Amino acid sequence: MSTVLVIGAGGVSSVCVHKMAMNADIFGDIHLASRTKSKCDAIAASVKERTGQSISTYEIDAEEVPAMINLIRQVKPSLVVNLALPYQDLPIMDACLEAGVDYLDTANYEPKDEARFEYHWQWAYHDRFKQAGIMALLGSGFDPGVTSVFTMWLKKHKLKTIRQLDILDCNGGDHGQAFATNFNPEINIREVTAPARHWENGEWVETPALDKRVEFDFEAVGQKNMYMMYHEELESLAKFNPELERARFWMTFGDEYIKHLTVLQNVGMTGIEPIRYQGKEIIPLQFLAAVLPKPESLGETTKGNTNIGVIATGEALDGSGEKTFYINNICSHEAAYEETGNQAVSYTTGVPAMIGSTMVVTGKWAGDGVFNMEEMDPDPFMEMLNEHGLPWQVKELGGPVDF
Ligand code: NDP
Repeated sequence: MSTVLVIGAGGVSSVCVHKMAMNADIFGDIHLASRTKSKCDAIAASVKERTGQSISTYEIDAEEVPAMINLIRQVKPSLVVNLALPYQDLPIMDACLEAGVDYLDTANYEPKDEARFEYHWQWAYHDRFKQAGIMALLGSGFDPGVTSVFTMWLKKHKLKTIRQLDILDCNGGDHGQAFATNFNPEINIREVTAPARHWENGEWVETPALDKRVEFDFEAVGQKNMYMMYHEELESLAKFNPELERARFWMTFGDEYIKHLTVLQNVGMTGIEPIRYQGKEIIPLQFLAAVLPKPESLGETTKGNTNIGVIATGEALDGSGEKTFYINNICSHEAAYEETGNQAVSYTTGVPAMIGSTMVVTGKWAGDGVFNMEEMDPDPFMEMLNEHGLPWQVKELGGPVDF
């Protein structure tokens, strides 16, 4: 039984902590710390009611490294699970290094003043983690996370090499609001409004944000417009699969979402440069995030399914020529809410965070240094997806995608 310290108390954290408590044989002692302690207490109360497990809660500003080190030394966890925001990745990694404890997150570091989702800041910690004899597992959510594991499972069991890869992220859920985001609005809008980037013939190709749109028929959702955009797992997938000729990421957005986002962008509300307002500096996007519905408040009203998966084309392992496979998970917003009190976008991220944590604390995935999901054996993780609420399916398609 392990002691874990989870940082952050949003929707993703709520799901992960509920799922950890449901697996008390692995996570015997759960500690939860965040900037607003009352949010930790609300999660602890729900966990107690649903599972009977007690968890300890703390207030912490994770950007205060000495305070984080003290908390880690007090709790003595074998793993720190970072489910706060990407801005806190580096300070939490610094604290883990100092305290000599393993680290896990679900999103790569992003500086506050620049919307760049890149791994190099965290990869630069590899030697220090290695010397300290501790492990950092990066990106253990759904995307990044499961999408990378899906790809590596296909490469282990179906395809010798992957020539073309498309990640399709569909949220077919309806939350009944005119405009809302299903995870942290600031991070979500920074991601969606950034230029699109995909990997082609050994280099990144940049195109304007939301410029390329394709209609796709998603099982359990129906026809949806999906837009090509940059997503952080493309970087690690391209690094660990050097044979890839092309890798792209697609996300669905409804017309209403696009309409609202376009207006907000046109009037400057999505900007991340500070402006002066009534003698005070504010960042328009942070102000916008403050007035939008909180993602954790959408659970009760969201209906429908998510369908996230990977289509990969490459040379079949069995020597039968080129093959294309589609591997995906369908998750119901209502079922996710019923089980944990959170909608499926938080669920599909929080469950893989719990599974990644299991891999680390049980030693099924081990190593000294900083690792991406692509570097680990996909099989035990894939087994746990099936057992813990995110079952997957794989099917062969007639040929490569034609979009
Ligand atoms: P929320 O905004 O709901 O929650 C973030 C939490 O972090 C809040 O409780 C917040 O506290 C806390 N926090 C923020 N700053 C600090 C700080 N300095 N110190 C301590 N705690 C802090 O976000 P989500 O739950 O939606 O997302 C959590 C993470 O998961 C994000 O990094 C997001 O990018 C990632 N994610 C990954 C996905 C994947 O598939 N890989 C998909 C979706 C999300 P407060 O309440 O006080 O603001």
